[in-house]
Amino acid sequence: MGLSWIKMAFYSVRVLSFHSPYVRGLTNDSLSCCINALLQSFNVTTELIEILNKWHPSDQAELNNVPGQLKKALNDMKISSNPSPHMHFLNCLHHHSIRRFDVHDADEIFHTILNLTQKQMADKDMAQEIRKLFEIKVETQVMCKTCTYIQKVPNSLFSLPLAIREEENDLKSCIHSFSQKQTLKDDDECYCDRCSEKQPSTHQLRLVSLPGVLCVHLKRFRNDCRFTRKLENKVTFPDTLQKDIFDAGLLENAEYYSLYAVIVHIGTALFGHYTAYIRPDQDWYYADDSYVRKVSWSDVQGTYKGCKTAYLLLYRKMSRSASE
Ligand SMILES: [Zn+2]
Repeated sequence: MGLSWIKMAFYSVRVLSFHSPYVRGLTNDSLSCCINALLQSFNVTTELIEILNKWHPSDQAELNNVPGQLKKALNDMKISSNPSPHMHFLNCLHHHSIRRFDVHDADEIFHTILNLTQKQMADKDMAQEIRKLFEIKVETQVMCKTCTYIQKVPNSLFSLPLAIREEENDLKSCIHSFSQKQTLKDDDECYCDRCSEKQPSTHQLRLVSLPGVLCVHLKRFRNDCRFTRKLENKVTFPDTLQKDIFDAGLLENAEYYSLYAVIVHIGTALFGHYTAYIRPDQDWYYADDSYVRKVSWSDVQGTYKGCKTAYLLLYRKMSRSASE
């Protein structure tokens, strides 16, 4: 036990010194693995860091201000040799009901951090820039099958929730299923404004626009009769998403998405641990709390299925003309 701790500490320091100045471990403080994995991902989201670096308000130093403490934690991860540069951030989240020693869901915490950032940033232009960076615009369309009247409701999300079938999946089929039409009948019938009564209907979600940073949420936790279980089925995902994976018009001709962070859930629905694969430059790294090491793309692909599986995928929008 003692020896492995020393080995791990040695390894973290070695990675810090010789590989990338942006990759470092974070101690697990009162079950903070979920927040640690998210911080590792935010730390390689250079677009977010650029926005936070432009922001210098008086409220950023307040202990209970989430965007302020997020900015401080991300900055300290780069410059401080303290093994717990995120301590104030954890305290701040605890104050906002993301309690220490609770088991968290990474997608929920991702949303909570971004929602609190929207609420607590006094500079609303800056908050709007962060919103735009992650915001996926969708539209719910409910069509009455009797009179064909379509009701459209706009909505926005910070992550794209994709259902998984209990068989082999690939990301393309999951994205395709997201916008598939569903028939609503019997108890699920919808009220039609034109017919002025409940009618058999179809329900469809349509992607309206995609953000600079696309967070894909693989819905691996399923509630069946009050029990939550984890789906360990295979979901393959590519390191680049080309424009043909989405409906026409969502990406420009030269645009594509490049994968740069994967939040991983290890374990079952009841008991689990979060880690992250991150790509700050060309190379992938694996961050498991204090322990950080360089890995390969095939290691990342090892999270397609099983007990150690990809849960959130962060893709960054790129443009061929700019990058090649
Ligand atoms: Zn109708």
